[in-house]
Amino acid sequence: MTQKKKTKRVTNLYLQQNGKCYWCDEVMIAGLDVDMVRTQQPELLNRLFTIDHINDRHNNLTRLGPVVGACHQCNQRREQLSTALKLVQDKMKQGMIPSDNSLGYK
Ligand SMILES: [Zn+2]
Repeated sequence: MTQKKKTKRVTNLYLQQNGKCYWCDEVMIAGLDVDMVRTQQPELLNRLFTIDHINDRHNNLTRLGPVVGACHQCNQRREQLSTALKLVQDKMKQGMIPSDNSLGYK
């Protein structure tokens, strides 16, 4: 995908969601550089528009498509959550946690 097409896709996603985070419905700030905001206006960081990849198969959200627009805060939170889930799954594979599916994992 060319950079131009990619930018258009991201812009469309932002417009589709009326500039609001998919998860928390807060208005997001688009078009700012994350690193610039982090160093110069850290209070805005949580509200930045980011692309959240819906590719972890255990969250049953694949029907929504591969990506949604999410604020930086929710994106970070989801990242932590999927890391935590992965750790649990790894332990299951190693037999350290019974994988009887009672927790809803597949
Ligand atoms: Zn959010």
